[in-house]
Amino acid sequence: MKSMAMNVSSALFFSSFLVPTRREPRRRAFNPTASSSSISRKEDVVIVGGGIAGLATALSLHRLGVPSLVLEQGDSLRAGGTSLTLFKNGWRVLDAIGVGDELRNRFIEIEGLVMRSVDGRELRSFSFKEEAPGQEVRAVERRLLLETLSSKLPLNSISYSSRVKAIKKQGSGETLLELDDGTQMLAKIVIGCDGIRSPVAKWMGFSEPKYVGHCAFRGIALYPEGQPFKARLNYIYGRGLRAGFVPISQEKVYWFICFNNPSPGPRTDDPSILKKQALELMRNWPSDLLDVLHNTPDDVVIKTPLVDRWLWPGFSPAASTDNVVVVGDAWHPMTPNLGQGACCALEDSVVLAGKLSAALKDGGESVEVALRAYGEERWARIFMVTARANLVGSLLQWDNPIVCEFRNNIMIPWFVRLAPFLEHTNFECDLLEPVAST
Ligand SMILES: Cc1cc2nc3c(=O)[nH]c(=O)nc-3n(C[C@H](O)[C@H](O)[C@H](O)COP(=O)(O)OP(=O)(O)OC[C@H]3O[C@@H](n4cnc5c(N)ncnc54)[C@H](O)[C@@H]3O)c2cc1C
Repeated sequence: MKSMAMNVSSALFFSSFLVPTRREPRRRAFNPTASSSSISRKEDVVIVGGGIAGLATALSLHRLGVPSLVLEQGDSLRAGGTSLTLFKNGWRVLDAIGVGDELRNRFIEIEGLVMRSVDGRELRSFSFKEEAPGQEVRAVERRLLLETLSSKLPLNSISYSSRVKAIKKQGSGETLLELDDGTQMLAKIVIGCDGIRSPVAKWMGFSEPKYVGHCAFRGIALYPEGQPFKARLNYIYGRGLRAGFVPISQEKVYWFICFNNPSPGPRTDDPSILKKQALELMRNWPSDLLDVLHNTPDDVVIKTPLVDRWLWPGFSPAASTDNVVVVGDAWHPMTPNLGQGACCALEDSVVLAGKLSAALKDGGESVEVALRAYGEERWARIFMVTARANLVGSLLQWDNPIVCEFRNNIMIPWFVRLAPFLEHTNFECDLLEPVAST
């Protein structure tokens, strides 16, 4: 396997590129246009957003000897959120950046999946070992994933309560970031990892993500005495309505419900109301699912309108403009029907870090070229996965009774095959060996 490691001398060479002159401190006060009262700074690589994409990018760069600063609008890592199912492509990346085994130890390996109808009838079941050997599936708590990634970053790599509110290009080619607190920060390279409502993507000309016609409820059920379920993904298909649950650990089970809705509907922040709505939707559904819902604390249920953005060639901007680039949901919001949004964000982060660090190290290839190459390499895959997730969602959210009968009684039992269905989880990447000095 080709190693992407840099030795100490190349790391030093690289840092000489980043820092204007060696004698200058890396983070010095800088006041390009700001009023004298504002605190202004100059940074080399700024990552906007401390979610999965932001932290994985920061860690990938760090392992390759590239320092960065993450600006996160929250005053801490996102403690809420529920769980994400990570497939083997996500695990490849977590291994590449050195956190795979630590996370593996905390989450159950899922052995297969079972598909059922609302009356509880089993339509089909699969074992990953038999039908998709090499597949690795675990439901991972978002909070623990973020904490694990951030714990591997150098101290002060994340600046909290740092919301970027405006972006401006400077004549020098650098980018001025204005923060809510008045800080003006000049960055050589900006990596937008700021999620589906990304101000960076908006500034680059990307359209708003589009609502796809269904919403999701999610939550985590607690079983302090031990949960009773087999280690498998449970999917239940109704009409314009589906649900699923999967064990996370011995005590926790993640669940979701997807329901058709012509509009995202009013925002309801009270999780106990959301839980009531979820239970109401699932009335008369299989008892094990209801048990999971009843075992969910009132305050952890969330509702999310599902959106995506198709990156049509010729219409959608490229992933980078000069030295500004987008990663993860900021670039390619996708529906969660394949469980691939975070997996693809992780993939983006290692690909981008590899290209960026090589450009900085070699000095020959410009950063702009490297960022463009990242976008070109990732585009086809991202476009395919976004489209596939959307199509799978439309199929699973059908509400026509005849079509649903066909899906549940003919298509799923006779035609669905697991290996081709999981083809999109094939992704390989090199181990990012930490540079000797880190
Ligand atoms: C219902 C549902 C289920 C899902 N299930 C799965 C799954 O099973 N598997 C999977 O792989 N993916 C899943 N996903 C997708 C996954 O959640 C996202 O793809 C992933 O969170 C994207 O990470 P990100 O870092 O790009 O964005 P985010 O996680 O949204 O992080 C963005 C960060 O940027 C910060 N930020 C935003 N604006 C600013 C600003 N102006 N200044 C500073 N900081 C800012 C935010 O506070 C946040 O911390 C699911 C999504 C949904 C909606």
